[in-house]
Amino acid sequence: MILELKSNPTLKDFQNYVMQMKQERGFNTTDKFYECCLLAEECGEVISAVRKNSKSGSIGSGSVAGNVAEELADVFIYLCSLANMHDIDLEQAFREKEEKNKQRTWKRL
Ligand SMILES: [Mg+2]
Repeated sequence: MILELKSNPTLKDFQNYVMQMKQERGFNTTDKFYECCLLAEECGEVISAVRKNSKSGSIGSGSVAGNVAEELADVFIYLCSLANMHDIDLEQAFREKEEKNKQRTWKRL
């Protein structure tokens, strides 16, 4: 089967793509805690990329600007993967959580 993300994908399509991609590449599909660590690592890479792209951040000599888009894509991949490992439909989870969030009172800064 050819690994290809269909055009106009749904969130479920992304989750299915990630599941197939991980199987094809022989990546971890069972160790949930390890996957959490990889997700956290990628979140750190987002922070690093944002810092390197911001004017206020300190950039070491020889350091190149981080690619925020790439790192956010990595986080999204691991988010899909972790959801897959827990049989979670991310769209459904998003909708249900937002319904809860709508009932909350939010303090404005
Ligand atoms: Mg990365």
